[in-house]
Amino acid sequence: MYSSYGGRQTLAEDNALSIQDLLNRGFNRLLFPEPLESDFRTLQQSQAISTLRKNFPWVFGIYFLLGIGIWLLIPTGSLGIWPLIHSLIGTFVLIGGACSYIPQLDRWYQQYATFAACGGLSLSIVGPLYYSDAAMTQITQIGSLYVVIIVYTVLGLRFVSACVAGWLSGVLALTYIAATNVKLDWLVFHETFTAANIVGMMMAYLGEHRNRTVFLQSRLLELEKEKSEELAKAMEKMSREDGLTGLANRRYFDAVYDREWRRAQRYGHCMSVMFIDIDYFKKYNDHYGHQQGDECIKAIATIISAQAQRAGDLAARYGGEEFVVIYPQTNADDLKLIGNRTLTAIRDAQLPNAESKIKDTVTASIGLACCIPSQSLNKEALLKLADENLYRAKENGRDRVVFSALPME
Ligand code: GH3
Ligand code: MG
Ligand code: MG
Repeated sequence: MYSSYGGRQTLAEDNALSIQDLLNRGFNRLLFPEPLESDFRTLQQSQAISTLRKNFPWVFGIYFLLGIGIWLLIPTGSLGIWPLIHSLIGTFVLIGGACSYIPQLDRWYQQYATFAACGGLSLSIVGPLYYSDAAMTQITQIGSLYVVIIVYTVLGLRFVSACVAGWLSGVLALTYIAATNVKLDWLVFHETFTAANIVGMMMAYLGEHRNRTVFLQSRLLELEKEKSEELAKAMEKMSREDGLTGLANRRYFDAVYDREWRRAQRYGHCMSVMFIDIDYFKKYNDHYGHQQGDECIKAIATIISAQAQRAGDLAARYGGEEFVVIYPQTNADDLKLIGNRTLTAIRDAQLPNAESKIKDTVTASIGLACCIPSQSLNKEALLKLADENLYRAKENGRDRVVFSALPME
């Protein structure tokens, strides 16, 4: 019922407020409160995987061609163990890329991508140290700089995972260097690996921060859309509902009546209507108060709508303590049955009415009418007849049903 909508904050509104708050406050720690964080991670990860899957063939192709190029460029004698190192790094690239094609591994993306990045990166640090040719060493050391940047930016790893991959590869390489006594030029190491890691970290941080901002903004847009849809729905409901009873209002009834009349006319169906008016309701109000009167109207509305459950039936509040129900495709016998059932249900509810002149409980009078709408019949005629029958029910002593049908042509 629309009345429960007024003043209440919807879920969409609550969420929108907390997201706006998050955007205003900032999220320098790259962490959202749950469940936003989980949603963000899931989305970011699936985007990273699909990007990797898309880019992997040409990244691997370029890496392969690069290998061939260097192999042709450098005299065979100077290559040393470079082909081995290049192939091993290629294997790590291949492992990472291949895993992205296996959906079952998606939830392990951070882990396998970090592993592959760490492996490739360690080798790209250690490899150049073994080359006797100075040009080779230089080329491959500069190459490792690119590998670091790729790990931080292209893989779509979360900032923390990218840092782990970046720095852990350095630790692994240095541990290996210390254990094997290979000569390391610290200056070159810092100029390439350390510098690239610091720049990579900044890029990864800014990248993730931007992704998170975009995520929050698109969430906000979604919620705004949800909110306006909710509002539109509530407005639509309000425009056809009676505020007190939740039944259709008069305006909506008029529209449905018109539609059903034309439908019955088209198919030659019998159409039925029922008017219900609570007896001695003025006295009820005077005795029990207006508020209790409202409760009584609501209770009667519930009873009436329980008797109008077939698809197409429509119960409406016609005004005050008067109701109207449309029963499409319902003949005279069925209508009389429904009318009597409604009357009995109202009696059986035994709502007290001390001021009633006929009983000590709430009763109602019912006017029924039906017809097969024809071109020559005015649609108001059926409503008029049902209303007249209601009047006759009142005249004849109330708490009863009066029925008549419009004459057939
Ligand atoms: P009858 O048996 O002939 O139908 O008499 P009645 O008293 O029921 O009819 P009348 O038309 O004289 O009075 C209807 C009363 O219904 C008058 C009005 O105060 C009351 N009423 C109309 N709408 C509302 C409403 O929304 N809430 C309440 N509590 N009372 C209403
Ligand atoms: Mg009345
Ligand atoms: Mg009345």
